Amino acid sequence: MACQLKFYVHCSFSIQAKREIHLTEQISLFLWKMTKPQTLDKYSRSGAYKLTCPDCNKAYVGQTGRSFTQRFKEHKNAFRSNINTSNYAKHALEHSHPFGPIHETMQILQCQGKGAHLNTIERYFIYKEFSKNNHLNDEFNITPTKFSIPY
Ligand SMILES: [Zn+2]
Repeated sequence: MACQLKFYVHCSFSIQAKREIHLTEQISLFLWKMTKPQTLDKYSRSGAYKLTCPDCNKAYVGQTGRSFTQRFKEHKNAFRSNINTSNYAKHALEHSHPFGPIHETMQILQCQGKGAHLNTIERYFIYKEFSKNNHLNDEFNITPTKFSIPY
């Protein structure tokens, strides 16, 4: 009788211990998923992007073959240094509009490596903003002949 009771207590303890270990593993996995670093940061990729002014919603469309983060920093440096290398920075400075942080200002339109395909994607999105009369891009980037099909 005592032996059976001992066996029961042992089994019961083992099952309870396994449940606790399983629960601990699940909590640990959940915490890891919640706190793990983002290994595939969307801003680390290249492609077409849109910078939208947080004040007036005017938009600049651009492309980069490097990371979106790097290109954003270049726009920001143009804003801080007041150098004429970014139409978006120029707009913000001329109208005293805020530059805005990357996660609020920069929208990734499409991830793509540098090349003809990315050029076409960029032109499409520039034209889209142009047709809404909402663009900050240079006028020479928006000529309709660039969008016509040669057939
Ligand atoms: Zn603005």
